[in-house]
Amino acid sequence: MTEHKLTLLVIDDEASNIKVLREVLKSDYKVYAATSAEKALQLISSSEKLPDLILLDIIMPGIDGYELCKKLKADQQTKSIPIIFITSKTTEQDEIKGFEAGAVDYVTKPFSTPIVKARVKTHLELKAMREHFEKLSMRDSLTGISNRMHFDHKLIQEWKRMQRDNLPLSLIMCDVDFFKKYNDHYGHQAGDRCLQRVASIIDINSKRPADLAARYGGEEFAVILPDTNAVGALEVAEKIRSEVQRYEIPHAESTVSPFVSLSLGVSTVIPSQEVTPEELIASADAALYKAKENGRNRVEIAI
Ligand code: GH3
Ligand code: MG
Ligand code: MG
Repeated sequence: MTEHKLTLLVIDDEASNIKVLREVLKSDYKVYAATSAEKALQLISSSEKLPDLILLDIIMPGIDGYELCKKLKADQQTKSIPIIFITSKTTEQDEIKGFEAGAVDYVTKPFSTPIVKARVKTHLELKAMREHFEKLSMRDSLTGISNRMHFDHKLIQEWKRMQRDNLPLSLIMCDVDFFKKYNDHYGHQAGDRCLQRVASIIDINSKRPADLAARYGGEEFAVILPDTNAVGALEVAEKIRSEVQRYEIPHAESTVSPFVSLSLGVSTVIPSQEVTPEELIASADAALYKAKENGRNRVEIAI
């Protein structure tokens, strides 16, 4: 395995300052550099991975450091990159301005090498921890797929995006058939393992990058399918249904199949002012109810 070094972006109009910082940091990090804010913005938008941390000078021709910092903090894409000012502006007012612009730290030149190293390390650790907890807070602890909170958040986000672009948004609600009987017969722990399998099958079959599979509650799952019409959503739902069956998880107490099965409800809408995300959920739920009524182990679509 190759070592994955974290990346730092140094932005300074003085090439000699960049050189010094690079010497100090290159043994621990991958160091990129830009000699102006404009070049930095270009570099950030053209590279496929964002820098993990930015070291930023203040006085530069064109866009200065304060302004660049504010720009990066206002942009959804770049707002979580920690920015440390490294500057010869040493007054309290300068430093306050730096923090107000959104920086996490402020170092004055001439700087002490061990202090710069320590501060960079601290802020990278804080960032990693923040990302770790952010990820954890979005996951369902039993199945590892997205939880209800993340689902709610993502549904609103995609609703707005599809409304802006006038595109269809589909939702699939899935519910395990006779799951109470499954628990009663095989025990709660086996029930948990069953939910884990079902969750991963649903997740694997929500293939596009914008798709999101979530545990909606108990033995219910939901799949958000942005830019997907009813035909496409029906296809995904049917694939999920048949893949769960194909896994052949024995379910001796089910009256619809010898194996664990799902009932699914599909609903599609082009988001607008006239409808709400709650209505989309309610209509997918109604379709799911219809699938239960019509015999389970099937997909129904909202009318
Ligand atoms: P239907 O086919 O109509 O959906 O019947 P059902 O038995 O699946 O539906 P019901 O809502 O009556 O029962 C759901 C069961 O799911 C009851 C509950 O104990 C079980 N359940 C919910 N969450 C969990 C969980 O995290 N682990 C386990 N093992 N069981 C769970
Ligand atoms: Mg059920
Ligand atoms: Mg249920």
